[in-house]
Amino acid sequence: MAVARTRSVALVGVTGRIVEVEADVGNGLAGIHLIGLPDTALSEARDRVRSAVVNSTYPWPDARIIVSLFPASLPKRGSQFDLAIAMAILGAAGVIPADRIAEPFFLGELGLDGRIRPVRGVLPSILGAAKQGDATVIVPSANSAEAALVPDVKVFPVAHLRQLVEWLRKGEDAPEPQAEECVELPKSTTEPAVDLADVVGQPVARRALEVCAAGGHNLWMLGPPGTGKTMLAERLPTLLPDLELDHALEVTAIHSVAGVLPSNAPMMSRPPFVSPHHTATAAAIIGGGSTIVRPGAVSLAHRGVLFMDEAPEFPRHVLDALRQPLESGRVTVSRSAGSVTFPARFTLVLAANPCPCAQAEDQGEDCKCSPTVRRRYLGRLSGPLLDRVDMKVTVVRASRRELMADRQFAESSKTVAERVLVARERAAKRLAGTPWRTNAEIPSSVLHSDYRPSPEAMKPMTSCLDSGTLTARGLDRAVRVSWTLADLANKDRPEEDETTAALHFWLGVTS
Ligand SMILES: [Zn+2]
Repeated sequence: MAVARTRSVALVGVTGRIVEVEADVGNGLAGIHLIGLPDTALSEARDRVRSAVVNSTYPWPDARIIVSLFPASLPKRGSQFDLAIAMAILGAAGVIPADRIAEPFFLGELGLDGRIRPVRGVLPSILGAAKQGDATVIVPSANSAEAALVPDVKVFPVAHLRQLVEWLRKGEDAPEPQAEECVELPKSTTEPAVDLADVVGQPVARRALEVCAAGGHNLWMLGPPGTGKTMLAERLPTLLPDLELDHALEVTAIHSVAGVLPSNAPMMSRPPFVSPHHTATAAAIIGGGSTIVRPGAVSLAHRGVLFMDEAPEFPRHVLDALRQPLESGRVTVSRSAGSVTFPARFTLVLAANPCPCAQAEDQGEDCKCSPTVRRRYLGRLSGPLLDRVDMKVTVVRASRRELMADRQFAESSKTVAERVLVARERAAKRLAGTPWRTNAEIPSSVLHSDYRPSPEAMKPMTSCLDSGTLTARGLDRAVRVSWTLADLANKDRPEEDETTAALHFWLGVTS
């Protein structure tokens, strides 16, 4: 037996694509050759595989070894093919029966001592393998909890090359290493550490957060430092319901590819909250990387919240790059080797100080920024970006009396989340049979044809449109928010109260 075949999975973005791995051990100068567009990491696989096999005390074939990975057109990056390459070589060399490795998928990086190390993107890789039906997947034991999230797939976690080889040599009937059954979606057990009731003195901003959570709307908060903008944004996820299973799998797959999935709690059932700093690189925010394209903050925030504090401080090209994901729910990262598309449907929360000196009004020192400086500062947030924001809130510092008065009205996250859930269910019922689940996702064309409030209710908006205070895009934004306000008020359609309130949120109101 000189040729053996097995299978692995390559990741294109967050999609797993099946890769065939074939090894041919034959006459010729001893050495190993890899064919099929290997990148640097894959070339290093040669050395790792050889050391792992030798250190696991198996003979290394003293022959010419050709390993090919196909389809050759798929970019194969990273170290997750080590295990499949080792299997194919050991199969061709007659160390393990070739028929035992032909069907299963092997994922894992090899340590020089034969240890099987965890790899990124196990969840999307197994989802890719599962498309074939009836799949068996061998994974590193450190990835076993993540692997077990995929139903209807036989998963065998292994810790060492030797353990795997000995099992494969024993034949079909040998007891499995330690088969993992598929697990139930774990419920989020940890209660959020923060609560909306912590933010007193900002009733309008709290209400805006509730609307934002109920409809998936983008929010812009404007106000001096120390007024609680960050506190407010951090509490938005506490108002959101758990992710549904399909969304939880999407979110988990992205975090797996990014290599940031906690190994003890692999399923992300809560909406993520991602808050990149304005000094972060464009690749860290949008996605990118030199050898392996990784998802950025916009994708890590998929189905959750992307919070950009001090938004005008972000580089212009980063802010402009937000427009594509805000419109399409996806982000395409172009690189010389080709482009990769990642999901990126998030709720955007922008926060901005009114001026660059960021002087809190009551810190004794007055802001000396001229109106021109202030205008130019906020002008960094381009019109097209702000046009994609549904709601604006001006946050001002509350007086002691306002704080005291508001304290009794500050509801807990739990209370507000219950209203949000009811409103979301109303919207989901109305949108049943469409690809959208929240009002923010309804495209303009559908909004105009199917979800137009009555002419009576539209009156406040049409007059703003006539006077030029509302753009056509702004109108769409405000109509979507009015539907969410109707959902929160248990109404079947927005009435004038809702359209007026939505208009105030779009134009920006002072709390
Ligand atoms: Zn200033």
